[in-house]
Amino acid sequence: MKQKKMKLTILGATGSIGASTADVMLRHPDKFETYALVGHRNSQRMLELAEQLKPEIVVMTDGDAIAELQGKLPQGVLLHEGMDAAVAAASEASVDMVMAAMVGSAGLPAALAAVHAGKRVGLANKECLVTAGRIFMQAAKDCGADVVPVDSEHAAVHQALLGHDHGSIRRIILTASGGPFRDRDPASLVNVTPEEAIAHPNWSMGAKISVDSATMMNKALELIEARWLFDMPADKLSAIIHPQSIVHAMVEYRDGSVLAQLAEPDMRSPIAYALQTGERLEAGIPWLDLAKTGRLDFQAVDTERFPAMRLVQTVMQGNDTLAISMNAANEVANQAFRDRKLGFMDIVRTVEAVLAKVENIPVDSLDDVWSHDREARRLAQEMIVL
Ligand code: NAD
Ligand code: MG
Repeated sequence: MKQKKMKLTILGATGSIGASTADVMLRHPDKFETYALVGHRNSQRMLELAEQLKPEIVVMTDGDAIAELQGKLPQGVLLHEGMDAAVAAASEASVDMVMAAMVGSAGLPAALAAVHAGKRVGLANKECLVTAGRIFMQAAKDCGADVVPVDSEHAAVHQALLGHDHGSIRRIILTASGGPFRDRDPASLVNVTPEEAIAHPNWSMGAKISVDSATMMNKALELIEARWLFDMPADKLSAIIHPQSIVHAMVEYRDGSVLAQLAEPDMRSPIAYALQTGERLEAGIPWLDLAKTGRLDFQAVDTERFPAMRLVQTVMQGNDTLAISMNAANEVANQAFRDRKLGFMDIVRTVEAVLAKVENIPVDSLDDVWSHDREARRLAQEMIVL
């Protein structure tokens, strides 16, 4: 019997994760079909994707991009505008799976809509869990949504947890490449340019996450992401520098056994893992040849060099508003750095200064999430302009 295809909505289709998702889906045309492609501004890229994936609808959240695409999409593809249309595309009844790959907390409404609709959700957009992890995971439980990690470290943990008892976990260890400045003298980082920060040694990614990798704010966000995804207290979560990015994460069990997941650093691997529901999928990534790799190195994270990793300890021990504010202030500071309005070393300094000013309280409604998000953005903007 012919198997029914899995129908997807891809949020953030025009980005780096969107491209890798399309690549994996196009390798398996018998297994996947596309309901909606959702993008923001990049109409040219959306046009290419629409021709390849033949979705039922295209959504652009930016008005100018809509004007650019008018009359250009393949025959029969409908064009919708705005975040409400993205939310609708994520919760559409005929959709089986939503790939949540927008960037920043801007992606939360659509990803959460997919959760509320009980979809299988491939979660790349880690900022959703950093800002609203408690609400997001509770909604998944209540609505029967399956949240599958796409972030490579979390996909690795997910695999190392399969078939094991949650109570037997002693520690989850995420690896971090250390980014392009791992060995640079911190004093030399003052004048780093956005181009240097974005040039990641192992991974090809979008601009925001590449800068987050250079500051290691990315690993800080990932520790919080892991806390919600795997329901783990902060003291059981840690990170270690591993420059080769071959081991993606490890889970240590009570009996001293440590399970690791290894693969070449290519996001198509965790994406293929998230897209499968039974048999594993061929992902198109190079085969791992450890004899050629030669060595796998590990070292402790130096929190002097990477203050974001010191900051996240305070955030994880505090209440929800700290994580919301850390994420929001970082989004503003990261963008200001890419716009050349802020120095590299001032990104985390700005986040720290914002954290010193905000409330430290639990949050249980989305309205409160957004009001703390807005306040942290306002404080960060104010400091950057000063
Ligand atoms: P990207 O910048 O390449 O793409 C981001 C996507 O989000 C684009 O499609 C863009 O159109 C859309 N977008 C941006 N702003 C938007 C807005 N305001 N409203 C609606 N849509 C908007 O980013 P990426 O590297 O693909 O990362 C996407 C997410 O996945 C991020 O949360 C990132 O942390 C996470 N992630 C990425 C990688 C990677 O290898 N790229 C790895 C792990 C996790
Ligand atoms: Mg990651």
